[in-house]
Amino acid sequence: MIKVAVNGYGTIGKRVADAVSAQPDMEIVGVSKTRPSAEAVIAGKRGYPLYIADISKKADFESAGIAIAGSVEEMIQAADIVVDATPGGIGAKNRELYEKYGKMAIWQGGEAHDVAGFSFSSSCNFDDAKGRTFARVVSCNTTGLCRIIKLADDAFGVEKVRATMVRRGADPGDSKRGPVDAIVLNPVTIPSHHGPDLQTVLPEIDIVTTALVVPTTFMHMHILQMDLKETGDRDKILEMIKNHSRIGLIKGFTGIKSTAGLKEYASDLGRPRSDLWESCVFEDSVSIVDDKELYLFQAIHQEADVVVENVDCIRAMAGDDITAAESIALTDRSLNFE
Ligand code: NAD
Repeated sequence: MIKVAVNGYGTIGKRVADAVSAQPDMEIVGVSKTRPSAEAVIAGKRGYPLYIADISKKADFESAGIAIAGSVEEMIQAADIVVDATPGGIGAKNRELYEKYGKMAIWQGGEAHDVAGFSFSSSCNFDDAKGRTFARVVSCNTTGLCRIIKLADDAFGVEKVRATMVRRGADPGDSKRGPVDAIVLNPVTIPSHHGPDLQTVLPEIDIVTTALVVPTTFMHMHILQMDLKETGDRDKILEMIKNHSRIGLIKGFTGIKSTAGLKEYASDLGRPRSDLWESCVFEDSVSIVDDKELYLFQAIHQEADVVVENVDCIRAMAGDDITAAESIALTDRSLNFE
């Protein structure tokens, strides 16, 4: 069993902990919080040993009735590998702790590529993670871009990509961020950072991205245009999407044309936290124009798509020798993808 610690039990960390627990070859040895909170209570209910970054706060937790297993340093020592899901910028500061105890670590997309020197996407570079001590799972948007661009590149070759990310303003549980009533150009400069981030995984891809933020919480929406090297074939690309377990094809007959419709569908499926681990490509949007231009819309559940990627990254780095296809299938089966 691969012993996994989750440093930072928040939006991403709590989902990674549950996904890891569902795997037959992994177990959670601890999760961490900085202060008593509803999430700390949930960690206890799930049976995850709870560790704290600042052990002097132990009394605060205990007076709230929350049992503490020890300090984050003790948690790291108990693990084979640490998933660092602390807020962007904090994770990089933890690197010296992982080095101190000689532990493997995986960071999230809020950290720069340099934190690990290697950025990961299950569909693109699973084998390159093998034997590494450090890796970074790219952000939710970059994960979504990686999956579909790799698929199109494998099918027809991708000459260049132009994409706009319509981003959610805040996660559903986050009442401090916005906008409440605005469309914000974020960043106002072009290109946005998403293109260079994709190139940390797929360096050969010519890509320019733009991004804006809107008052919604559930998902991001991507408007993608790819110039293909060869003449495109819509039926072929739809078939490849159908066969890609991390990309869901949203069919026209469902009537789903929005993130709201996707949320209802995920909820009706009985998915934990209404999570959509797959990128959601709208079938009716998939269009080939002038033979070599591919257009599509895809929705990305920001809280969920990177979770399964973290599980695969753990397996690539700390597990037995296994192929990407085998790991992806095992991850998905363990989570009851349907
Ligand atoms: P979050 O704020 O929801 O959770 C972070 C957790 O880390 C909190 O539970 C907090 O208590 C804990 N924490 C803070 N400082 C800590 C410390 N020093 N030691 C241990 N724990 C500490 O953040 P999040 O949204 O889960 O983001 C985590 C990472 O995942 C970031 O790099 C972010 O960019 C990335 N990410 C977030 C999303 C998203 O949509 N939320 C999507 C993809 C990637």
